[in-house]
Amino acid sequence: LARLTLIKGGPLFDGRTLRPWPAGAVLVEGETIVRVGPAQDLASAPCDAVIDRGRETLLPGLIDCHAHLSMDATRENYLHRLQDPIGEQTLRAVNNLRRDLLAGQTSLRCCGDKEFLDVDCRRAIEEGRLEGPSLVVATRGIKASHGHGFVGYSFDGPEQIKRAIHQNAAAGADFIKIFITGNLETPEGIPSYLSREEIELAVAEAHRIGKVTSAHCVGGPGLDWYLAAGGDVVEHAYFVSREQIERLAAGRTWVVLTPTFILEESRIRHLPPGVIEETLRQGRRAAECLAALIAGGVRFGVGSDGLHGELWRDIARLVELGASPLAALQAATSNAAELSGLGARTGTLEPGRAADLISLAGNPLADPAALGNVGAVISRGRLIFSKPPA
Ligand SMILES: [Zn+2]
Repeated sequence: LARLTLIKGGPLFDGRTLRPWPAGAVLVEGETIVRVGPAQDLASAPCDAVIDRGRETLLPGLIDCHAHLSMDATRENYLHRLQDPIGEQTLRAVNNLRRDLLAGQTSLRCCGDKEFLDVDCRRAIEEGRLEGPSLVVATRGIKASHGHGFVGYSFDGPEQIKRAIHQNAAAGADFIKIFITGNLETPEGIPSYLSREEIELAVAEAHRIGKVTSAHCVGGPGLDWYLAAGGDVVEHAYFVSREQIERLAAGRTWVVLTPTFILEESRIRHLPPGVIEETLRQGRRAAECLAALIAGGVRFGVGSDGLHGELWRDIARLVELGASPLAALQAATSNAAELSGLGARTGTLEPGRAADLISLAGNPLADPAALGNVGAVISRGRLIFSKPPA
């Protein structure tokens, strides 16, 4: 018989809404939530252990919708470190996974890593050999030889791309990641490094074998081709047009917003030296586009793009860009789970979902920065980290 644990706290955000109870509680059986309700209703529930978080807010573990396990944006010139030997990158991944989990990020959507280290990490975590969040992985990013994509591998032409998709799927990819554009606007606009034919093939072939697609795409004609082809998720979207925002909203396509990459100067200073000044220069326009996306009714999740254990910074940025704190929190919980394909497993506090939850002092719906200081982390029913309740 699985162990029953009662987790008690103060206010409870279930991933979609703040429940109207003065104090909430969650009953967990083994790895799974079995009841969620007002603390007074659950007080008499039979249980083997109690985790009492006092008046702290209870909420689902956070989901980083755009992670790279071996990328560490706090290191200087961090993109070029993705050319390090695979052993070095794997060691970095192990360290990053731990930082993410201790910060309350109990799931990550990995948008490309070298070789298949994300598959190995996913398996080791599932088998309990490695401490880390639950992972959804893209394996190798698929890029053009002349195109952008530090975590990508080069494949040119429909036949090579089809083969890459098959190989990634065989290795264990949960979804297919392609790189359509670079990160910035150029004097020529936003060139698409993949041809229309290649984008159409990638989406069609991924769908044919039952995989959703993700595209690194900041705008330009490549975005139009990707949307016309039926692409599922757009990453970054820093320089989308008004027409593209309307199209994204009408088509219900998911967009993963990654604001710190282009807005936080301390982070931009760690980019390759040649692009730092131009990235700083384009931040203001990117902020306008991101704000317009949010105001335009696009469905969005939020990702750190390699800033481990600090997803709260990107969540707080969304609020600065005009998102309601509720929408910003949903972007890292319920909506994040849905866009990651995890909607049946995690992202909300409700019976049947994995017992992935965190507690923290303060109200993240009033101040998202409260997410930067978690009091306890529970991952699949296991208490990973806790300090005395506030
Ligand atoms: Zn990325």
